[in-house]
Amino acid sequence: MASPACIIRGGEVLDLRRRSQNAADILVIGGIIAEVGPPGMAAPEDARLVDARDRALIPGLVNGHIHGHGTLAKGLVDDRWPLELFLNALPGISGNRTLEDKYLNGLVCAAEMIRKGCTACYDLFFEFPIPSREGVEAIGRAYKDAGVRAVIAPMLADRTLYRAYPGLRETIPEPLREQVDLVQLAPYQESAKAVERILETWPFDRTQIKPAIAPTIPLHCSDEFLMRCRDLAREYAVPLQTHLAETKAQAVLGLRKYGHSLTAHLHSLGLIGPHLSAAHAIWLDDDDMTRLAEHGASVIHAPTSNMRFGSGLARIRAMLDRNINVGIATDAANSSDSLNMFESVRLASFISRILTPDYRQWLGADEVLLMATEGSARAMGWSDALGRIAKGYKADLVFLDLGHINYVPRHDLVRQITFTENGGAVDSAMIDGRLVLDHGRLTTIDEAALRRDAHAAAERLAMMNEPMRLFSRKLQDIVGTFCRALSCEPFHMHVQAWDSASQPETMIRVSD
Ligand SMILES: [Zn+2]
Repeated sequence: MASPACIIRGGEVLDLRRRSQNAADILVIGGIIAEVGPPGMAAPEDARLVDARDRALIPGLVNGHIHGHGTLAKGLVDDRWPLELFLNALPGISGNRTLEDKYLNGLVCAAEMIRKGCTACYDLFFEFPIPSREGVEAIGRAYKDAGVRAVIAPMLADRTLYRAYPGLRETIPEPLREQVDLVQLAPYQESAKAVERILETWPFDRTQIKPAIAPTIPLHCSDEFLMRCRDLAREYAVPLQTHLAETKAQAVLGLRKYGHSLTAHLHSLGLIGPHLSAAHAIWLDDDDMTRLAEHGASVIHAPTSNMRFGSGLARIRAMLDRNINVGIATDAANSSDSLNMFESVRLASFISRILTPDYRQWLGADEVLLMATEGSARAMGWSDALGRIAKGYKADLVFLDLGHINYVPRHDLVRQITFTENGGAVDSAMIDGRLVLDHGRLTTIDEAALRRDAHAAAERLAMMNEPMRLFSRKLQDIVGTFCRALSCEPFHMHVQAWDSASQPETMIRVSD
C-alpha cells in the first residue's frame, strides 16, 4: 500500500546517466516521485519527513532473473555441479513444496533482496508437474506482503532433462531408464491451459506484481509449446523469458537438433521480440546477437551463476555495441548462492576484463549499475516506472549509509557502489513510497518467525526429498559424462575479434 505523501530530505541523489550525485530532496506522493528538487524545497504540510542525512539515495536494484522456488534449497547445490547436474538434482532439492513452503520461499527471497538493496525481481517460478494458480498466488502473496515488486513467470516445459537432451535418455541403463521414464511433465496443452487461467484471473495489482511466461529452456519445450507461449504472451500482453544458450551442451545439441542455433530457432518460431528477455545468453554468435538486436529483445546477464556452473562468459560489450538492452541478475539463491545484486554488478564489470585485453571494451561502473536498474526494468516491461530517481518514476529507493566503512574515505560514489558495496551499507529501502527497511529493520517481515519457519520447512523437505535425492545421485555420473563429452566437442561460433590481440575462440572456451 502506497503512503500518501512523504518528503525525503538531506540525501545525496544518484544520477547514473550523468554519473553524478547531488544534494536533493525527493517528494513522494502516492508511491510516485512527484519532484526531485533543491534541499529545503517546499512540501505539503502533511508530508511525512524521512531523514536521509549522510545517505546516498540510489534507485532500487532490479534483479532480472531469479527462481523463488530455489530459496529453501540454499546450500544444497554441490560444489562442482555444472548446470545439467543441477537440473538432474532439482526434484531432490526443490520437490514436495506445499503452498506454505511456496509462500515461505518468496518471503525468504524478499527479505534477502531488500536487505541487499534490491526492490524488484523477475521470478521464474517452477511447479511440478504443472503450474498452479494457487502456487503462483502463494509466492505472489509473499512478495505482496513483503512489499517488493515482482514479475512472476510460471516456468514451463513439456520435456524432462532426459528427453530434452537428444541421446541422453538412451545412455541410461535399465532399470534406471524405466524409472526416469516415470517422471513426466504435463502435456503442453495442459500447462498452457493452466497458465491461461493464471493470466485470466491474476489476483494482484499489476503495477506491483505482474505475470509473465517462461518457457524454461528451448530444448525442454516442444515447438508447439514454444509457439503457444508466444501466442499467450501476445494475447495477454505479458513479458516472456527463457534461458537461452546457457551451456555449451545446450548450444551443441541445439545445433544438432534444429540444424541452426538455439537463437535462430526461437527466431524461426517468432519468439524474439521486445517482450522477450534471454537469460544468460552465453553461447551466442554474432548472427544471434543481430537477431536479438533487430527485434528489440533484452538479455539478462547473470555472471555469478554463469561462473558457479562453469557455463561460460557472456559477451556483453558485443551486445551493447548492437544496442541490445541488457539487465543484470543473480539467478536463484541456490544456484548463485545469494540474491546479492551488488555482487552481480561487480562481477559483470570484472568479467568483461577477462574477455579482452582491450581495456577500452571493459564495462564501466556506471554502465553495469545502469544495467542493474534501467536495463533490468526495461526487460520486465517497467522501463517507464522503475530504475531511475526522476519525476514520475516509482519511489523505489535504497538508502546507503555513507558513514559505512565502504565509503570511508569516499572519492567516487559510483565506483565505490559498484566495486566496493556488498550490501553492508544498505540502511533503508523504500518501495512504492513505503519504508520496507528502516534503519536496518525490516518493517514488513517478522525475521525471527521467518527464520524459525524456514529452518523447520527445510528440515521437513530434506526428509521428504531424500528418496528423489538418492535417485538423482544414481544418474549423476551418467548425465555428467554425457554433458562433459558435449562440452569438449568442436563447436564453431562466428565471433568477430574486436582487436588483433584478442582470440575470442579461446576466450569463450570453444575447442577446435
Ligand atoms: Zn535460471
